[in-house]
Amino acid sequence: MNLQNLYDKLHYEIAAPALIVLTSTWVQVMAVYGTTLENITWSFLGNCYSWTVVGIMLTWSILSLWIPGKEYKGPATSAGHVPVYRDNGFQYFLASLLSFAVLLYFYPQVAIDISENYPQILATCNIIALVLCAFLYYKGKHFPEIAEKLEKQSMIFEFYRGMEIHPRILNVDVKQLIISRFSMAIWYLIAMVFFVANCMIVEFSWPFLVSVILLTVYLGKFYWWETGYFNTIDIIYDRAGYYLIWGCLVWVPSLFTLAWYRVVAEPILVDNNKAWLILIFGLLFIFLEYRIDWEKQYVRQNGGRCHLWLKPATYIMATYKTDSGATKKSLLITSGFWGIARHLNYTLELLTGLSWTLPFMGFGIWVYSYIIFLSVLIIHRIFRDEKKCSAKYGVYWEEYCRKVPYRMIPGIF
Ligand code: NDP
Repeated sequence: MNLQNLYDKLHYEIAAPALIVLTSTWVQVMAVYGTTLENITWSFLGNCYSWTVVGIMLTWSILSLWIPGKEYKGPATSAGHVPVYRDNGFQYFLASLLSFAVLLYFYPQVAIDISENYPQILATCNIIALVLCAFLYYKGKHFPEIAEKLEKQSMIFEFYRGMEIHPRILNVDVKQLIISRFSMAIWYLIAMVFFVANCMIVEFSWPFLVSVILLTVYLGKFYWWETGYFNTIDIIYDRAGYYLIWGCLVWVPSLFTLAWYRVVAEPILVDNNKAWLILIFGLLFIFLEYRIDWEKQYVRQNGGRCHLWLKPATYIMATYKTDSGATKKSLLITSGFWGIARHLNYTLELLTGLSWTLPFMGFGIWVYSYIIFLSVLIIHRIFRDEKKCSAKYGVYWEEYCRKVPYRMIPGIF
């Protein structure tokens, strides 16, 4: 067996099933052992409470996409299909935040109940995610939105990777529903729950609040820019399979919230002065990341005829071919933040995540789980993205890499 065959065997036949088993078991272990909270319960099927909570959250998310309103047309796929999204992300964010804050204010016991039933909630998400992924696999095979020629792989790999890029169910875009609505919202709502539970079990703590504020601002920014998210590789490139759908339905609510879950029943160790400093830096990182994503959208929307940092924007006018053979043009920006490093937004993403984790210093490695995972995800994503760009733009991408030689940190990587 040569090296390529060995890699293919590992990639297509071993890695996918191994990751499915490892990750879906691991989230349950984290849910049960990741906290010092007493009275937590877990069962493989969840319980009545967990099905109610997840049911309400899913229904709320679906309703937000059914409400008539502005539509946003995402970028066309290489086969010419144009996905349509509901453009009301920020309203959804505000309505979820306010109604949940009011609920917790009048019924703070809900925070304790959700915290104690958290492993059950994850078990419920796990079942829903696996059933949904199986359905998406079947749908993609037998009645996809658009017929596509896909290289045949093993069933388990196809289940893991997904079949369709833009599947719809119940007249909603599945990726917008699961990633952008359910998953991002449950992330900060759960952090709020743990904060209120911590106030009730221990005492009010500024560092804990700072952490929740940073996450909420970060996700507020995400919803403000939601239509920009429909241009990212998660949406335009990745298929709706276990990797993305299970990841957002289960992995996000579990691993991404582990820091808050770990400390829910603990007195916080970081002092208030450090918390203020973390807040200032955290807000700065969120702003800078927003600015980087904005610069890309701004320059491209203006066809390069605009200024960045008080100077005319510079760029490479790249051409590429679509699947149908048509030649298209696109700008690769070489000034502003995109002239400093090719993925500076990822560097800021890591710093932002670190900022809402630092208030929980002193509680061991568990609280850094998200950051460790994100670092691996981001490095992997850089190489995936660069492979995609190199295949798309060829010599133009090489020229961009020569002009902007570093990926994340100038002079280092
Ligand atoms: P980017 O926003 O960096 O988009 C990458 C794409 O941008 C490339 O594929 C290419 O696409 C285009 N591009 C690359 N270089 C240039 C350039 N110089 N000028 C113009 N366009 C360029 O990455 P993502 O889509 O991955 O991420 C979007 C946001 O989401 C980021 O802020 C990121 O930090 C965040 N994120 C959050 C994660 C989390 O789990 N918390 C995980 C990953 C991302 P094209 O084909 O259009 O040319």
